[in-house]
Amino acid sequence: MSSKTLGRKGRKETEKLCSSNKLGQPTEEERRMEFSPVTERDLAFLEKLVGGERVSTGQSELTLHSMDETHHRGYLPEAVVWPKSSEEVSRILRMSNERMIPVTPWGAGSSLEGNPLPVHRGIVLDFQQMDRILAIRADSFQVDVQPGVKYQDMNKTLSRSGLFFAPDPGANATIGGMIANNASGVRTVKYGGTKDNVLKLEVVLPTGEVIRTGTHAPKTSSGYDLLHLFIGSEGTLGIITEATLRLIGIPEKFSAAVVGFESVEDATHAVYEIMGEGLGPAALELLDQATIAVVNEEGHLQLKEKPTLFIEFTGASEVSLKESLNRTLEICEANGSTGFESGVGREERNRLWEARHQTYEFIKRNNPSLSFIMMDTAVPISRYPQMVNFAGETLKKYGIKGYAFGHAGDGNLHVAVAGDLTRPDDMKRLDQANEEIVSQAISLGGTATGEHGVGIGKRKFMVQEHGESLQLMKKIKQLIDPNGILNPGKIFP
Ligand SMILES: Cc1cc2nc3c(=O)[nH]c(=O)nc-3n(C[C@H](O)[C@H](O)[C@H](O)COP(=O)(O)OP(=O)(O)OC[C@H]3O[C@@H](n4cnc5c(N)ncnc54)[C@H](O)[C@@H]3O)c2cc1C
Repeated sequence: MSSKTLGRKGRKETEKLCSSNKLGQPTEEERRMEFSPVTERDLAFLEKLVGGERVSTGQSELTLHSMDETHHRGYLPEAVVWPKSSEEVSRILRMSNERMIPVTPWGAGSSLEGNPLPVHRGIVLDFQQMDRILAIRADSFQVDVQPGVKYQDMNKTLSRSGLFFAPDPGANATIGGMIANNASGVRTVKYGGTKDNVLKLEVVLPTGEVIRTGTHAPKTSSGYDLLHLFIGSEGTLGIITEATLRLIGIPEKFSAAVVGFESVEDATHAVYEIMGEGLGPAALELLDQATIAVVNEEGHLQLKEKPTLFIEFTGASEVSLKESLNRTLEICEANGSTGFESGVGREERNRLWEARHQTYEFIKRNNPSLSFIMMDTAVPISRYPQMVNFAGETLKKYGIKGYAFGHAGDGNLHVAVAGDLTRPDDMKRLDQANEEIVSQAISLGGTATGEHGVGIGKRKFMVQEHGESLQLMKKIKQLIDPNGILNPGKIFP
């Protein structure tokens, strides 16, 4: 890592990159915001605080921290810093707040809405080096961690104690990034999302003040729920420097099935009835025909190319698991399933989940010349069939290539729509389809984003979704971060 300053040439290149960005341009209001650039003096302060090797202004690091897994590009920071303690984070924030320098936290950069991109440049705080598991309290089913720990690595360590952290976004995200985005995954239908599995946080506020919120008790009704104010706030209110997480015992037994249907409508009606009967699956995922084709090709599977449900039950008793699975398969048959494979073994099951986790990567790999806009709508389960149907019809209307998949048991639908985003015509059609599908979800009583967060990509839907309560959100932001230095350019339209 270099600690050289950007210099005039670097700044010019950065400005070129920023001004050439055609996607997700900052709004007029953002352009008016007055932030200060990072000066030589600021860099000297940072280097003195954390050491030169943990501060970089090198082009490669700046570029790496200017893109996540989306098409949003061109937001180069001026410096990247790797803190190791909440004390360091606190002193960096205090200085940045006084100097009006934007600060954007960074976990693993696996977001799908541009969430960690430094729209207004400034400093990126990368939590890669704050990645320790601080304490495992197996007897209380809890773990204390630093924000940079990756949840898959953490779960490997926890498995030795027979425990796991249930939210499972697929990508090897950090706990800080998961909490900030309120991520969820294939196990959410049984165990809830990240917000249901965090007990306590240490948070550094923009002024540098360090607060702790939440307790080690499994429940509390004490005071305002500040814990959940920070969860899902996408690094715009405070920086998480420590978290206590709720753990679950690894279930001993499971039963799983893969069920094909003639149409997506049939599959989604089955989902509605499975959930309606309270069968309590541990996972209930939908993949449409186009997605199954890609998963077969890239994941070397031989699934029938039909709209398909991946279903799993977990628990302690084989008898009850079998009963739940049998009843589920009856429901599927009544909804016109074309065939199923049940009694899936452990190895096969792991391969299926691996393929499901990699679905988005597979889709991108299968379409190397195209870019994607990812939708993440969630609706009440009763509206899920209608939502999926509407999405399919909209793609047809605009002649767009798209892949539909998602955590069906949570009413969560991802549609990855493909196009050449450098072509204005493609961009326009994709944008229109995105707009119509997301608006439909909101009008069905749902949300623009079930789990990926607002970031840059979903800001335009916030007024429609939140109405007057968006004003209260703005006031909260104003109260906690009056200078607006924390991850500016996100959430608010
Ligand atoms: C292939 C693939 C599959 C995915 N599947 C899912 C899925 O099933 N479910 C799902 O929910 N998501 C999914 N995602 C999206 C992504 O993995 C999640 O949003 C994840 O929570 C991002 O974590 P991260 O560590 O990469 O954070 P980043 O992307 O680096 O940052 C996310 C947000 O958190 C903020 N942040 C980071 N660290 C801190 C901190 N210490 N304090 C405060 N704010 C912080 C950032 O500023 C940013 O706003 C997927 C992504 C990919 C690439």
